[in-house]
Amino acid sequence: MKSSEFSRTEPLEKLGWRGRIAVTPDFIGYPISAFAIIVGLTLAVTLMEGVGIALLYPIIELLQTGQNLEQLADRSPVFRVTLTSFAFLGLRPTLEVLMLATGALILFRQILTYIMSLSRAYFSQRAVARIASRTFGLFTFAGVAYTEKLRSGTLINALFTEAKRAAMFAAALQNIISSMFKIIVFVTLLLFISWQATLVGLGLLLVVAFFVSRSAVRGTKLSGQMINEANDRLTRYTTERFALFRLIKVQSMEAVETALFRREFDELRDLNVDVARYSARIQVLIEGAAIVGAFALIYLATEVFSLSLATLGIFLLVLFRLLPVTQELSVARQQLSAYLHAILYIDRISIEASAHAEQDNGTLPFPKLRQGIRFEAVSFQYPLEAHPDAASAPVALADVSIDIPACQTTALLGPSGAGKSTLADLIPRLREPTEGRILFDDTAAVDIRLDALRRAVALVSQDALIIDGTITENLRYGRPDATQQEIETAAHDAFAHSFIEAMPQGYDTIVGERGVLLSGGQKQRLALARALLAQASVLLLDEPTSALDAESETAVQRALATLQDDGNTTIIIIAHRLSTVRHADHIVVLENGCVIGTGTHDALMTDTSWYRKIVDLQTGASTDTDNIASLSRNVQTTSKENTT
Ligand code: ADP
Repeated sequence: MKSSEFSRTEPLEKLGWRGRIAVTPDFIGYPISAFAIIVGLTLAVTLMEGVGIALLYPIIELLQTGQNLEQLADRSPVFRVTLTSFAFLGLRPTLEVLMLATGALILFRQILTYIMSLSRAYFSQRAVARIASRTFGLFTFAGVAYTEKLRSGTLINALFTEAKRAAMFAAALQNIISSMFKIIVFVTLLLFISWQATLVGLGLLLVVAFFVSRSAVRGTKLSGQMINEANDRLTRYTTERFALFRLIKVQSMEAVETALFRREFDELRDLNVDVARYSARIQVLIEGAAIVGAFALIYLATEVFSLSLATLGIFLLVLFRLLPVTQELSVARQQLSAYLHAILYIDRISIEASAHAEQDNGTLPFPKLRQGIRFEAVSFQYPLEAHPDAASAPVALADVSIDIPACQTTALLGPSGAGKSTLADLIPRLREPTEGRILFDDTAAVDIRLDALRRAVALVSQDALIIDGTITENLRYGRPDATQQEIETAAHDAFAHSFIEAMPQGYDTIVGERGVLLSGGQKQRLALARALLAQASVLLLDEPTSALDAESETAVQRALATLQDDGNTTIIIIAHRLSTVRHADHIVVLENGCVIGTGTHDALMTDTSWYRKIVDLQTGASTDTDNIASLSRNVQTTSKENTT
């Protein structure tokens, strides 16, 4: 099982700038070559724009004076450069030639702009897809101990909002480079037209831009981080509530929840408004200063520097093209810091998730079970962080040594919290023992390839896991190659075929998110059919009949009995009901993480007092539903009474 391609353990934050440059392009899925091509295109487009505007100057002068360019050569360095350049190309710059050249330049520039926009969109979207799918891969390959700690809102925020922002980093960097180059080109042009007017104009521009961008960058850097956190909170809140609609209803919390949602959203609104306020401030300040500056310039240019009206016109045209560029530059600077924050965030969770990737060092195939599954002094402790109030993490399994015979049915019994589910999770290595080991015949579980082990162990959990799709899709999940015939046989064996056939579209009926269109019993039977279809050699069931109506229970029990009679499958059932135990060949009784008895019903009746009490209670109770959880409470109370 290959985990998603990500092996770095040192976070980007800790790398120096050299390290960051080496690692980031690959991390955000934006190759340096693509970056260089787009920057090259941007530079070419800007250069063409500069030349295009520069050519307007001689065109206007020629139109206005009716002279030729040679006669005007002394007037401006722009004219001299134009003359030399055209002479180099072997052309004489008449009005027509100049106009044609400008037209051709504009056309070519538009074509390049189109190619550039497409490439930018392509590479940005490619980066989003790559970051999001790699992160998704890291989450799915991580062990359950990590993923059950994660909140679904955090995942969704990381995969959609933050991945997108991280991918925009390269675009923001390109914007900065492009703005700086535009500034260089336009300022050079301005200097050529009139260096005195340029100094005045730029002086004004720089003062405004400096103050504006300093305050704006500082402001949005803070808001960027806070927006990220608020987004995360809001997505988490919403996804959590989506799963709780029923609770909201029965507790009449609709109004409270709506108000809470509104409050969360208001916070996000305030932050976004903050960012907008900074942008608006920049815009108003820059434009205001531009108008005042333009008046001052017009006055100075005509009265002091004696520029012609055509020169002044071109000068102002270039200067006004420069204005949005300074604005672009400060916006790009803000974005760069916000997007960098997203990259570091994605980086942090990627490293965290990959550190929790499941270890798969096994090389052996799953053996054909002859003896069975052996637990050798297995202990398991959940991490302390899962029990924040406890002084030390409780021991969920303590020194468990048991043999689960091959091709027979073993029931795991015990009060709730005894460690039954934990023990079951250890078999397909969803969790790893903290001590001891598990063997399949003579092969240690860790030596078996993880995918082979998982294929050999089918798990039917108590809350049947159903995906939003058709019944066939649900059954095929994990075995995409199964034929319709195999699917129907499995459904038949799980006593699911008849209810599926009775549905409007049979096997093509869509069951809805989490199977909302199915009853609990139907979901259980589907899950069982899926497990049977996997033809696993170990079938692990977390009390498949506890939520079932009598008819479904009989059906599932008949399905299991058939499987048991075939004698090819090792069945392990976590039993919440004594009726389940009756069908088992072998029973393991757990209490507080320890095995307090193993054997057949008869052996346990003599050896294990807890078991005897449970059975006595059941046979004595006239109305009790043989539920072990409720009985075990009774037993505990009775034992306490006995000791006092
Ligand atoms: P059972 O299946 O017999 O009811 P479990 O195996 O679910 O028992 O639980 C055994 C112990 O482990 C309990 O003390 C329970 O609180 C703890 N436990 C179970 N699941 C987790 C988990 N995901 N994180 C932390 N502790 C857990």
